[in-house]
Amino acid sequence: MRDKLYIDGQWRAPAAGGTVEVINPSTEEVIHRIAAAGAEDVDLAVKAARRAFDDGSWSKLTGTERAKYLRAIAAGIRERQAEIARLEVVDNGKPFPEADWDVGDAAGCFDFYAGLAEELDAHPEEAIALPDARFTSKAVKEPVGVAGAIIPWNYPLLMAAWKVAPALAAGCTVVLKPAEVTSLTALELADIADKAGLPAGVLNVLTGPGSVAGQAIIDHPDVDKLAFTGSTAVGSKIMATAARDIKRVSLELGGKSPFVVFEDADIGEAVEWIMFGIFWNQGQVCSATSRVLVQEGIYERLLERLVEETRKIRIGDGLAEGTLLGPLVSKKQYDCVQAAVQKARTEGAKVLTGGGRAPGFDKGYYFEPTVIVDPPLDGETWNEEIFGPVVCVRPFSTEEEVVRLANHSRFGLAAAVMSKDNARAERVAAAFRAGIVWINCSQPTFTEAPWGGYKQSGIGRELGRWGLENYLETKQITRFASDKPW
Ligand code: NAD
Repeated sequence: MRDKLYIDGQWRAPAAGGTVEVINPSTEEVIHRIAAAGAEDVDLAVKAARRAFDDGSWSKLTGTERAKYLRAIAAGIRERQAEIARLEVVDNGKPFPEADWDVGDAAGCFDFYAGLAEELDAHPEEAIALPDARFTSKAVKEPVGVAGAIIPWNYPLLMAAWKVAPALAAGCTVVLKPAEVTSLTALELADIADKAGLPAGVLNVLTGPGSVAGQAIIDHPDVDKLAFTGSTAVGSKIMATAARDIKRVSLELGGKSPFVVFEDADIGEAVEWIMFGIFWNQGQVCSATSRVLVQEGIYERLLERLVEETRKIRIGDGLAEGTLLGPLVSKKQYDCVQAAVQKARTEGAKVLTGGGRAPGFDKGYYFEPTVIVDPPLDGETWNEEIFGPVVCVRPFSTEEEVVRLANHSRFGLAAAVMSKDNARAERVAAAFRAGIVWINCSQPTFTEAPWGGYKQSGIGRELGRWGLENYLETKQITRFASDKPW
């Protein structure tokens, strides 16, 4: 199964026969070979998804009927939760408790959208008040069609769930392409969906390089909607292609999210949230609060504590008991993070702790948790995403100044503020130009709440009822009171 593509309800070898090596980032060993889908395979998958959509075998089911499949998928994930979490660890590197959490969350996402599918039946239409009494009008929701979903490697199964669950709930059919470095759990999802009896063609999973398989999905004329999570560079390309063909598009892209700590905050608690906000998942989190701004009065004391606590983080294999920080996902990512820290040094920033290969690890893409201070405001270190366990810290003096500094970014995914003064925290939260704002915390994510960014962090919102809207069209049906022309 792992060296095959899941197309039209069957496991098939790729037409051109290519493979991609799957490397365990902790040991650098090749643990599997997955199939490299080409344009021919994508075409087969899209045709299957098109047929399954057009013949109504999925799109015309009631929401309640679709919900049964979604709940069966959720149950299938939960049944194998620990096994799937272990697979995520050897594929991605993250510590097991984090992977276990992600897998549980993925199951929860399918259950949540099962509920929203049922609600579609409860509210099938909305009456529209018109100024002319001879007309009555209503708005109905219909599925968009075939959705092409392309996802990254940082939360492999969870990102698949964030796209597949709302798409299926809405009545769309899906062609999913996981990231080539972490495809194993998406293949498990296909297996679970298959065992849940999902009709052939409703979900297709194609592994392989983005430049080939991903490109073929975004280029395919029969794909109605593109849903993407990944880098801003690829997101921009996808949006350009979507513009050419007028495809619906939703994008979840990068970030350089600020975390503002006022001097009335508890230093110990602030340090814990800062660390959670940047070291969770080795900092490979789009919403990571990677720019920390601390008010002058507590700056030195907070830094001292942050460095002290950062040095205590237990680094190790994700399957080892007590590991808090695993390896980065790939050699490519390790090299990117190392280059970013080197750049910080050349920009004149100071590395207070970390900055290179974790001591004691000859193998594996282990990068030390790193604290950098005083990166120049106009430099790459402060402005560009590093996507690793690297936090940049700067002091500030006033509320007005920190709002300006926090918002001075081409990104606008997330932002956090800590203060005991509720009115001030609310003011700053309102002033942030970001799609996700946390007060007195960083990173908690709920399936019920909208997720997505302002500015170059993306277009549209995932999760909650907003996530379902991505996969729905709105149709107005207007009736004239008589059959005589007016
Ligand atoms: P990436 O953009 O290189 O890859 C993402 C996906 O796109 C992969 O499946 C890849 O195979 C595919 N892809 C690559 N080139 C393609 C092309 N030409 N056409 C179609 N598909 C193509 O990004 P990545 O390296 O996987 O992830 C890291 C980046 O993603 C970071 O910048 C991070 O901020 C961002 N990210 C954002 C979120 C979010 O929710 N906003 C979540 C995770 C990651």
